[in-house]
Parts: sequence; C-alpha cells; structure tokens
Amino acid sequence: MSDISLLPQVEAFLSRNHGLFIDGGYVESHSSQTLEVINPATGKVIAQVADADPADIDAAVASANRGFKQWSQAAPALRGNVLLKLADLLEQNREELAQIETCQSGKIIQIARAFEVDQAAHFLRYYAGWATKISGQTITPSLPSFAGERYTAFTLREPVGVVVGIVPWNFSTMIAIWKLASALVTGCSIIIKPSEFTPLTILRIAELAIEAGLPAGVLNVLTGSGQVGKGLIEHPGTHKVSFTGSVPTGIAVGRSAMGAGLTRATLELGGKNAAGFLRDMDLDKAVNGIIEAGFLHSGQICAAAERFFVHHSQIEQIMDKLAQRLSKLNIGSPLDERTEFGPVTNRQHQLKLEGFFDTARAENNTIIHGGQRMDRPGCYVEPTVILAKTVNDTLLNEETFGPIATFFPYDSEDELLDLMNNTPYGLSASLWTNDLGKALRMVPAINAGTVWVNMHTMLDPAVPFGGNKSSGVGREFGGAFIEDYTELKSVMIRY
Ligand code: NAD
Repeated sequence: MSDISLLPQVEAFLSRNHGLFIDGGYVESHSSQTLEVINPATGKVIAQVADADPADIDAAVASANRGFKQWSQAAPALRGNVLLKLADLLEQNREELAQIETCQSGKIIQIARAFEVDQAAHFLRYYAGWATKISGQTITPSLPSFAGERYTAFTLREPVGVVVGIVPWNFSTMIAIWKLASALVTGCSIIIKPSEFTPLTILRIAELAIEAGLPAGVLNVLTGSGQVGKGLIEHPGTHKVSFTGSVPTGIAVGRSAMGAGLTRATLELGGKNAAGFLRDMDLDKAVNGIIEAGFLHSGQICAAAERFFVHHSQIEQIMDKLAQRLSKLNIGSPLDERTEFGPVTNRQHQLKLEGFFDTARAENNTIIHGGQRMDRPGCYVEPTVILAKTVNDTLLNEETFGPIATFFPYDSEDELLDLMNNTPYGLSASLWTNDLGKALRMVPAINAGTVWVNMHTMLDPAVPFGGNKSSGVGREFGGAFIEDYTELKSVMIRY
C-alpha cells in the first residue's frame, strides 16, 4: 500500500498565501484572522485561508454587481462557451484538482477524480447547453377592444442578479460547480462561500474560470466561517442565496434571506433517507445495494441512505453478509489508489459520529459491525451496521451523515411504506425489487424529491434534484433550476 506522489503544482498551491478571489484575482483580506485547513487523513495543517470580514464582503458584493452588469448583457452563446471552456480546463487540470480535493477533504482519490472533477465537467457541459435555450412565452390577452385596439404580451426570463452560493464540505467542488453553472448560464454573477473545512479547490477553479474567459467580478470566492455567508445573504447588494448544507443552518439561512427583504432562497438540505428491500431481491444484490446506498464516500452524501428496511425473514442474513463484506473493505489513506474507505472529513464530524455510537449503545441497539473510531492517526471511524430496537431510536431518526447503516425489519409492504415515510425529511429514497410493476405502484406513495429503483445516490444533470418536507426548497438540474435563478417579467402591448 502506498500513496501517490503529490504533483509539484499541488505542493506549490497548498503552500501559497491564499487570498480572497475578488474581481478576477487574489486580494489580501482586510481581516487578520485566518482559518487552518487540515488534512483529515493525517491531522496535519495543509494550508491557511482568510476568514473574510465585513469590508471584504462589501468589496466582493461591489465587484459582483459590476460583473453582473456586464455578464447579464453577454450573448447567451458566449456564456455557454465559457462554461464549455471551463469544463475543458477542469479536465486538463484533473489530477491537480483531485489531489487538492483529497488533501483537504480526505475523499479517496478515485472519488475525487471521478466525481469532483469528471462529474463537475459533465455538469458544466450540460448547463452550457441551456445558455441558448432559456426563453419566455408569447401570450394573447383577452382584454376588451373598444375602438379596434389589440393586445399582445410576452414574458422575459431575466437573471435574478448577484447570487450567494453557500457550499458544504462533502462535495466542495461539484456542489460549487452546480451553483456556479446555474448562475452563470442564466446571466447572474455569483459569490461562492465554501465550507471553512474545504475552501481550497474552488479557489483554484476561480483562476481557471478567468482563463476560460469569464469577466472579472462574475465569480468571486470569499473564504471564511458561517458569518461570512450570513453577511453576504444580508447584504443589500445580493439578490439570491443558493444554499446547500444542514437543516438547522438552512433554516437560519432562510430566515436571514427573508429578513433581508425577501432575498430569493433555494435550500438543498439534509435527510434521513430510506432504502426499502422487497422480499424478491437476491440477498447478495441487496448487500451490493446497501454498500452503494450507505457507504460511498463514508456515507457523507446528502442523498445517501441511512435507514434500511428489510423483510423480517431476511434481516439477519442480510446484516451478516453485509458485516462480512465491510470487514473486507480496504480501509486506508485516501491518496492510495487501492483504498476503498477513507477518513471522514473533519475531527468535529468524527466526534459527532462517535457520539452516535454511544447513543446507539445507550439505547440498547445491537451493533452488528463497527461502532468505534479507528486506532490510527486521522479522522477514521469504522463502517458500522446497527439494528435498531424501536422506530423511535435516535439512529433511525437523526441524520448521522456518516458510514452508519441502521436497520429495522418490516412485515408487509404497507408497513414498509409507512416506515420509509416516517421522517420529517424527504430528500431521497430507494426501492429494491425485481418486480418493476410493484415498484412503480409504490413510488407515488413515497414522499421524497428523488426515488431510485434498484440504485441509489447517483445524480444526473438532466434529472431535477431537491428535497421535499424539511429537506429543502427548490430544485437543481434539469430545466428546473432556471426558475430559481431568473425573474419572470411580463410585457403587455396595446396596438
Ligand atoms: P453546514 O450547514 O454546517 O454548513 C454549510 C455551509 O453553510 C458552510 O459553508 C458554512 O460555513 C455555512 N454557514 C454556516 N452558518 C451559516 C449561516 N448562519 N449563514 C450562512 N451560511 C452559514 O453543513 P455541512 O456540515 O458543511 O454539510 C453537511 C450537511 O449538508 C448535511 O446535513 C448534508 O445532508 C447537507 N448536504 C445537503 C446536500 C443536498 O444537495 N441536499 C448536499 C450536500 C450536503
């Protein structure tokens, strides 16, 4: 087992004095406060970034408004071309970006390459195609005509203005790209506030965006704590927030946005997603499905499943097989290409997960596999399988955002549906069965923004994504994002 060598440009990037990215380049922060970026695989500090202050926020907002004036007037095809060029540049700098991402987040290098870079480029190209396809309608009003006058009307889709994009730590590149692409293709400018844990990759991407031809000020990046996000949302010079993160922060963001004079807000929040396995499912395929749904990127995926419902006649066998599979996982350094399971992204999160292990024990849940931090440097916890005792147990109700699969048996399919819906959240769910007819009849009864059948977690830019109930407001991807990044203007003409 050995780590890949870091590219010289990665070493050089990490050791830079990182400023804030405002008006097309790096500027020194007005603040003397900095934040340490820590590699969760080693516990070592790999970089320092600025913790922006109110004067930095003012500067970024002023720049973004200047950028908006220019960019909102740019020809749609030009906007699309910049996104296409940026996609090319992500691919040309694939290894550098993937390594920076792995160093800051502990994401295994294969996932950093495939999702943070390749998928991000794929999303950019999809969004680029929308640039020339955003349109309004023509309408014939039915107003009375007294002297032969006639009427016509049309609608315009106009960019909403300066967008604040607030990003979590789990997929810091891909989620930033979703927000950036949605804003740029609709003619908005954007200020991205990355997570304090993973601020680096988007700083490098901002440089690539300028190389791709994006005018200065259309994309600014302000690093810092949650207060920077709050300051941006509440600033009178910003017009929309696109937030991805936890439910409690999402509610605070929604309040800030409404309090700031109805700043538009879309909220992509957490969940407690369910996977339901019907009895006809082959047990080995079910175990593969559980690993896909619950353990990819150590379960640190908003759409990952955390509640697993299996028929009572099969639950013991499935949990045994799953425990065997997990005990063979190659757990190790995220920079080793053979590693299948790496650390979680930060110490706070590791401690939170350890708290969930304690709670499971205190509530007399059965820990089938794992349930401990790992005895090695860095933020490692064991992949864990838990059998809950009652539907009210904490592990069946609170989002852990980690590699913890909690099981509960069901008897009938009606009971399965009730169990799956028994949550205030509604981001995603999956059904696993060979009986497609049955699955299609059950899908409408599941209250979630996305329901997968025989798959889980995979997102595609053409398929809208977002949460029902407490999992959020609004949709990303498909054509659905356009409504959230534009205002509809009606024009009526008498002639
Ligand atoms: P978090 O809510 O703690 O932080 C998210 C971002 O919000 C960070 O950049 C943070 O600095 C910022 N922030 C904190 N307080 C703020 C405030 N008052 N105003 C404005 N911004 C503020 O979330 P996290 O721990 O970074 O990420 C994990 C959570 O994100 C999980 O709950 C997960 O389910 C969710 N998530 C959801 C999706 C989705 O698409 N639905 C995707 C990824 C992650």
